[in-house]
Formats: sequence, C-alpha cells, structure tokens
Amino acid sequence: MTPPASGKPRIAVHKFSSCDGCQLAFLDLGEDLVRLSQMVDIVHFAEAGPVDPEAAVDIAFVEGSIATPDEEARIQRVRANAGTLVTIGACATSGGIQALRNLHDGTQWLADVYPSPAYVESLATSTGIAEHVKVDLELWGCPVNGRQVLAAVRALLWGVPPLPQRDKVCMDCKRDGHVCVLVSQGQPCLGPVTVTGCGALCPAFGRDCYGCYGPAENAHPDALGRRLEGLGLLREDVARRFRFIHSNRGAVGEAGQRWSDEGGEP
Ligand code: SF4
Ligand code: SF4
Repeated sequence: MTPPASGKPRIAVHKFSSCDGCQLAFLDLGEDLVRLSQMVDIVHFAEAGPVDPEAAVDIAFVEGSIATPDEEARIQRVRANAGTLVTIGACATSGGIQALRNLHDGTQWLADVYPSPAYVESLATSTGIAEHVKVDLELWGCPVNGRQVLAAVRALLWGVPPLPQRDKVCMDCKRDGHVCVLVSQGQPCLGPVTVTGCGALCPAFGRDCYGCYGPAENAHPDALGRRLEGLGLLREDVARRFRFIHSNRGAVGEAGQRWSDEGGEP
C-alpha cells in the first residue's frame, strides 16, 4: 500500500449497477464509520458526501455489476487508480439478480419492458467485476454486512490477508442453536449450499435461507435439490431457487441450469 501524503491510506467507494444496499452497509457502521474515517481518507463515496471518482486510492470498494457500456469503460479506470480492489455484494461478485437477464435474450427484455428501447444504453448481460478486471478480494452477500466490510478494511490496513469464509450457513445455525427450519418446518432452506458471513440471519428469524451469500465450497446442490423435491417443490421451483441471486457464478447457479434444462423454464 503506497503511503499517502496525509499519512493515511486513501479509500474510495464506487457504485455500478446496483441498489445501493451494500453502500448502506458502510453507512450502517455508525460510530465505527467515524472511527474508520479517522484512520483513512475517504476521498470518493458519493452516497456519504465526498466525490472524486478519478482519484488514485489505496483501496477501492466496488458495488454493482457491469451492465452498461459506460460501466465497462469506467471499471478499467477504477482498477488503474486502485492499489487494492475489493468487490462488495452479490452484484459486484456475480452479476446479481439483474444477471437473470443473461439467461434469456437481453435485447428482447428491453423491447418487452420499454416502449423505446433504442434510448436505453444497456449491455445484453450483467456480469461481476472479476469478469472485467483483476479483483483482489471479494465480499459476498446481498447486501454485505458492516462487520464483514470493517474486518476487511482492518485486515487490509494492517497488511494482514483477510480471512476467507469457508463454512456453510448450517454451521452458524448449529453454533448459535437455531432450530433447523428445513428439518423442523420443511422450509426449502439453501443453508446447506450457501457460504456463511451473515451469521445465519434468516434461520435465526425462523425463515429459510435463499442463498444471498453465494455458493459454499464443496456444496452438493443436486443432493439438496432432491431433498427440496421431497418437500414438494417442482423441478422448475428448485431451478428458480438455485438461480435467484447468484445465477451467473458458482456451483449452485450451474445446478440451477441443470435443473432448469431437465425441468422446463426457470
Ligand atoms: S435452518 Fe437452514 S441453514 Fe440452518 S441448519 Fe437448517 S438447513 Fe442449515
Ligand atoms: S441466511 Fe441466507 S439469505 Fe439470509 S442473509 Fe444469510 S445467506 Fe442471505
């Protein structure tokens, strides 16, 4: 990391195609954000105030997917201006919910939705940042939570490699003593194939995980799919669940394609 003139590392938070929810995770840090701003110079973070999108920084956080020609060009400049590039959230890591359009003819979607599609400058696909430039660290989640972001910032500031999450959501359920909603209530929970990071937030409130933190390592989505069929889901419902947030990347999205191919349209 290059020492900045002020002696503090410089940070930017950039927005691409997204809902702003991951930037809100930063703002939700509250007092921790104030403490963070004493340790770093936040030079670009439009949602919080500072605007200098072309500034050279030590760490650039990127929210959102690449879904327009402008974004294809802009991410190259963000990469060139950043020492370390960290993607935050589902859109930036895998293309997000908007990547569902990749499964069909993107130009046809535009014609179906907009009366004058010629005025819409949009790519036919939505893709994660790593498909366009080198990414140094990915933080998954829809949205990420503030604890994850803060832990990553601290690790990067002290020059320690951030610890990757490897456990599945089920492990957090067991550690925190949550009653399993799949076993006890027959809810179609994706915890067995989803990486944790959220602390099993949904099962803690008695509802099923829908996989927003992305596919876990060594996931067995086909085995879970058969279990979900056993609960009464149709094959296309299983495909929809697997493809919901992370259709564009990882074993669960790929399983969604298989279940769709064998069971009809997702
Ligand atoms: S509720 Fe879901 S995440 Fe929790 S143990 Fe059961 S299957 Fe796993
Ligand atoms: S339990 Fe699943 S859907 Fe809920 S926040 Fe965690 S990863 Fe996302």
